[in-house]
Parts: sequence; C-alpha cells; structure tokens
Amino acid sequence: MKLYPEDKVAEIQGDHRFFQCADCCTDDTWDAVEPVREMIAAMGGNTAVPGSLIPRCPHCGREAFPWVRGYGNFLQGKKYAHQYDKISRYLLEHKDKNILFLELGVGRLTPMFIQEPFWLLTLSYPKARYVTVNDRYDFLPRKIEDRGMVIVADIARVLRDTRDAVEKKDPAQ
Ligand SMILES: [Zn+2]
Repeated sequence: MKLYPEDKVAEIQGDHRFFQCADCCTDDTWDAVEPVREMIAAMGGNTAVPGSLIPRCPHCGREAFPWVRGYGNFLQGKKYAHQYDKISRYLLEHKDKNILFLELGVGRLTPMFIQEPFWLLTLSYPKARYVTVNDRYDFLPRKIEDRGMVIVADIARVLRDTRDAVEKKDPAQ
C-alpha cells in the first residue's frame, strides 16, 4: 500500500508495482499489480501458475521481472532517472535548511544507494542531522558522530515513543 503522493517519494530502489524486461531489452516498465493479482488468484491454495499467466516482456517475449534493485538486472532507464531527479532537486533546494535524514529499517545490502549518500549529505549540509533505526546494525561513522544517532530497536516502538514525547512537550498539538 502506498501512503504518500508520488511526487513526494523518490523510489530509487524501484517499485514492486511495476515490471521490467528481465533482459532489459527495453526502457519500458509496465503495471505488475494486475498480473500478480491474477497469478495469485490462479494459484488458489497451490504454488503453481499456468504458463500462460507468466508475465512476459511485450517486446522480446522473455520473462518480466519486478522493477526492483537487488537482483542484478535493475533497469536504470527513464523511470529511474525521473526518481533520481526528484530527490536530487529536493536536496539541492533544501540544503541550507534543517533537514533530517531518517533511515527506517535500512540494512547493509546496498549501502551506496541510501546509507552512504545520507552520511555524506549529513557531513556536507550545515544543518543536517542523521538518525537510523534498525534491529541490528549499531554503526555510525566517526565523522558524523556529533550529528547522528543510531537506535537499535523496534521501529514501531521508536516512532510511538517519539510521538508520545512530542505530544508531552507540546500539549497544544
Ligand atoms: Zn524484453
């Protein structure tokens, strides 16, 4: 489920709602929601789907693939460029403002796409702060020790406690 309007979100790690060609033969991406719904319905209580329902690239006929980074064939075409532009523009326009880089549940699988840029931006933007909440990695680079925080805990609990603390501080809210 998507809670935020698309223009407020930059999905540079992809989005399971879209398919791409497994071979990246085309820059096209297309809807995955309906085909996946049909496959799940066809599975019933089993784990097999009819071959005719396996989603395929409309250009080359190879299997379709989720448009998501992490499998080695992530399509970084015009859709990716659009997502990357959104976050880049936002960061440029807000670089002198109070800005919080908040990581929720970000692991160490592909740190070069979110975590390491967050560390660099925290270091280079004058009023930036960095907070990461996750269940296992207690690590903060020394260079941002005074501007960052690691919380190893349950995310839902941290957010609840934060909300309670904010409400206690400002009872008018
Ligand atoms: Zn293809």
